[in-house]
Amino acid sequence: MREIEPQVIKIAETNLCFEGVQRMAEFYGAQDWLKRSRELQPNDTEFLIELAGRSCYRSFGVGLNPNVTRIRDNPKDYLTNVLEKGDGSILEHATVTFAFLNVSRIFTHELVRHRTGTAISQESLRYLRPRDIDIWLPQDLKTVSGEFEATIEEIKARYRGLESKFDWDQMNFEQKKRITSALRRILPNGLATNIIWSANHRTIRWVIEMRTDPSAEIEIRTVFGKVAEICMKDYPILYSDFTPKQLPDGTFQYVPKFSKV
Ligand SMILES: Cc1cc2nc3c(=O)[nH]c(=O)nc-3n(C[C@H](O)[C@H](O)[C@H](O)COP(=O)(O)OP(=O)(O)OC[C@H]3O[C@@H](n4cnc5c(N)ncnc54)[C@H](O)[C@@H]3O)c2cc1C
Repeated sequence: MREIEPQVIKIAETNLCFEGVQRMAEFYGAQDWLKRSRELQPNDTEFLIELAGRSCYRSFGVGLNPNVTRIRDNPKDYLTNVLEKGDGSILEHATVTFAFLNVSRIFTHELVRHRTGTAISQESLRYLRPRDIDIWLPQDLKTVSGEFEATIEEIKARYRGLESKFDWDQMNFEQKKRITSALRRILPNGLATNIIWSANHRTIRWVIEMRTDPSAEIEIRTVFGKVAEICMKDYPILYSDFTPKQLPDGTFQYVPKFSKV
C-alpha cells in the first residue's frame, strides 16, 4: 500500500480572442467602453462574462440603447450586481479544467453526480491494471492505521494471487481488458485514481457550496476547498462573496453570500 494525498491542479481556463472582441466592440459602437474596461479588467474570464452580460442590453455606454440611462462602469460593481440578482447564466460562458489526481473512486462517484455544465474524463480501470494499491488514509482512521494498512495489503496479495492465474503474455488487448475489469471488483473503493473535470463558473460556485458543506464527505470537501482557494485567487471578483469558515476537523466550508446564482 502507498499512502497518497488528493491533489488539485488547474490545467486550463477560458481565454479571450482579443481581435474578435475588438470587432465585436466596433459592431456595437462600444470602442470607448472596451478601452476603459480592459484597463480596469485584465482578467479574461471575468471580462468575457461581463461582455456577454452587457451584450444583452447593449449596456456598454449610455446612448447605445435609448432605454439605458445609466450603467455600472466598474467591473466589480457590474459583476457583484449580477451575482446579487442571480443572473448566473452568463457565468456559463467561461470554464476551468482541473486535474483531480490521487482521488478515490468514492470521490469520483460523488463528483459525477453534478451533471450540468461539466465535462469528465476518468481514468479507466478496465484498461489500467494497478501495480499497487495507492490510497488516502482519512484522519478519522489514523488511530487504526496499522489495521487499515494490513487490510489493504491482504487485498493486494489476493489481487496479485488472482492476477497470477492468467497468462497475460498470451492475451490480446481485448482479453486483458476483460480480465482487468473483472479483477477490479475486489479492489477497494478508496483506490486512488485520476479524473479531469471541466466546469463553467456557475457550476463551480454551486459545487463548492454543496461539497464544502459540513455534511459533505471529507475527501470531496478537502478537494473542493482547494478548488475554492484557486478560484478565489484567480477570479477575485467572481468569487469575492465566498467566505472560508474553519470546521472542527481542520477543513474549511466556503460559504457564498449569493447562493446558486
Ligand atoms: C452532503 C451530500 C449528501 C448527499 N447524499 C446523497 C445520497 O445519500 N444519495 C444520493 O443519491 N445522492 C446524494 N447526494 C447527491 C445529491 O443528491 C445530488 O445528486 C448532487 O449533489 C448533485 O447536485 P444537484 O442535484 O444540485 O445537481 P447538478 O448536476 O449539480 O445541477 C445543478 C442544478 O441544476 C438543476 N438541475 C440539474 N439537473 C436537473 C434536472 N434533470 N432537472 C431539473 N433541474 C436540474 C438543479 O437546480 C440543480 O441543483 C448528496 C450530496 C451532498 C452534497
